[in-house]
Amino acid sequence: MTALDNAGLAARDLRVLWHPCTQMKDHEELPPVPIRRGRGVWLEDYDGRRYLDAISSWWVNLFGHAHPHINAAVTRQLETLEHVILAGFTHEPAVTLAERLVALTPEGLTRVFFADNGSSAVEVALKMSFHYWRNRGQPDKTRFITLENSYHGETLGALAVGDVALYKETYRPLLMQPITVPSPDCYLRAPGESWEDHSRRRFAAMEETLARHAREVCAVIVEPLVQCAGYMRMYHPVYLELLRQACDRHGVHLIADEIAVGFGRTGTLFACEQAGIRPDFLCLSKGLTGGYLPLAVVLTTNEVYEAFYDDYATLRAFLHSHSYTGNPLGCSAALATLDLFAASDVLGRNRELGRHMERCTAHFAEHPHVAEVRRQGMILAVELVQDKAARQPYPWQERRGRQVCRYAMEQGVLLRPLGDVIYFMPPYVITEDEIALMTEAAWTGIQRVCND
Ligand SMILES: *Cc1c(COP(=O)(O)O)cnc(C)c1O
Repeated sequence: MTALDNAGLAARDLRVLWHPCTQMKDHEELPPVPIRRGRGVWLEDYDGRRYLDAISSWWVNLFGHAHPHINAAVTRQLETLEHVILAGFTHEPAVTLAERLVALTPEGLTRVFFADNGSSAVEVALKMSFHYWRNRGQPDKTRFITLENSYHGETLGALAVGDVALYKETYRPLLMQPITVPSPDCYLRAPGESWEDHSRRRFAAMEETLARHAREVCAVIVEPLVQCAGYMRMYHPVYLELLRQACDRHGVHLIADEIAVGFGRTGTLFACEQAGIRPDFLCLSKGLTGGYLPLAVVLTTNEVYEAFYDDYATLRAFLHSHSYTGNPLGCSAALATLDLFAASDVLGRNRELGRHMERCTAHFAEHPHVAEVRRQGMILAVELVQDKAARQPYPWQERRGRQVCRYAMEQGVLLRPLGDVIYFMPPYVITEDEIALMTEAAWTGIQRVCND
C-alpha cells in the first residue's frame, strides 16, 4: 500500500466527488486540498503543510478543531446513544440543550424545534409562520418580506427568500416570490453618513412595504447585523429595533436567521441582543455544535406554540420532520460548546481579538483598490474594487478575490472569498500572533493581485 498524499487523494476525489458550491472544472487548475487532521485554528494536509482556518471552515467552528472538551462529550455520548427518533421519544441531551437555549436566547423564546441543518431551520420557520396565521384564521397571509442581498440557504424555500443572484437566478422559475426590500447595508451609505443614520433612513422602504402588504404577509426574514453570504455587508442595530416595532404594529412575524451570526460572531452571544429585540422565530445552526456536527434549531414563542396545540382531529399540528432531528451526538457537541462559553469570558476576549483584527488591517484602507474595511465583532471584511472613488467593482470574470486567497493559501492561511470581498471569521481560540499572520497573508495577496 502506498502512503496517502495530497496528489493521490485529490486524484481519487476528482474521480468520484462533486463538491459544494464549486465549478468542478476549476479543479483542473487547483485540486482540492485533502486535510488529514485539525487542531485549534490549524489544519494539516497529507503533505504535512499547515493552514490557519481563517473562515472557521465555512463559519461553523467556534473553539478550534478537535477541542478536547467537545471531543470528550461526543465520545461519551457515542458510547451511550448515537441516535433515536425524536417523535414519540426524547433524550436527555435534547432536553438539556433546549433548556439551555431557552435560558440563553432573548426572553420569550420558550419553545425549541429541532432540525438538522441551517436551510431546514429556515424552512421550518417559514412554514411555521405561515401555518400559525392559517391556524389563527388568516389564510391570506402567504408571502414573505426579505432584504436585498440576503441569504438564507439553498433549499428551494430558503433560496426563494434569499437574494444573492449568483445562487438564485438559475432557479428562479422554481421559487416562490417574496417581496424584496432595499437592504440597510452600510456599504451603500452616503459619504459622511453614519451607519445609524443610513440604516434608519433605509427603514422607510420597509415601513412602506409593511403598510402596503401586511395583509398578505406572514413574516419578515432577516440576517441580523451581517449579511454574511451577501459579501459580509453590515448594518446598524437600529434597523432591527425599528423592524421589531413595525412588525408588531402591522401584525407580521419577525424571523431572525442567526445561523451564521449567532454564538458570538458579532460581539454579543446573539446579534439581536444589540437591538434589544426578541424575534418570533430564531434560527440557529452552524456554530451551534461548535462546528462538529450538523444540527439546527428554531426557537419560538408560547404564542406561536399555542396556535398549534389542539385536539389531533382539528389538524392544526405542525407535521414537519427531518430524519436526524435532534441527533444526540449533535446535541452533546452543542452542550459542550455552551460549556465553553460558560467556562470563560469568551465574548470579552473576542472584543480584544476583534480590535486586534482591526489594528492589523487598519492600513488596508489606504490601498488604492480597497473600498472599505468593515468589522462587526469577530467578522472583518475587505471590499476590493477596480476604481475606489467610483466604487466600481472589478469585472467579476477576473476573480480577483479568488486570486488573493490563492496567495494566502500558499502562505498557509485558508481564506475563501465572497466575490471580491476578502473576510476573516476565525475560530475564537486564535491568538494575536495568528491574527497578524492571517491578515498579513491577505495583505500580501491583495498587493500582488490588485497592483494595476
Ligand atoms: C449558512 C446559512 C444558512 C444555511 O445553512 P446550511 O446549514 O448551510 O443549510 C442559512 N442562513 C444563513 C444566514 C447562513 O449563513
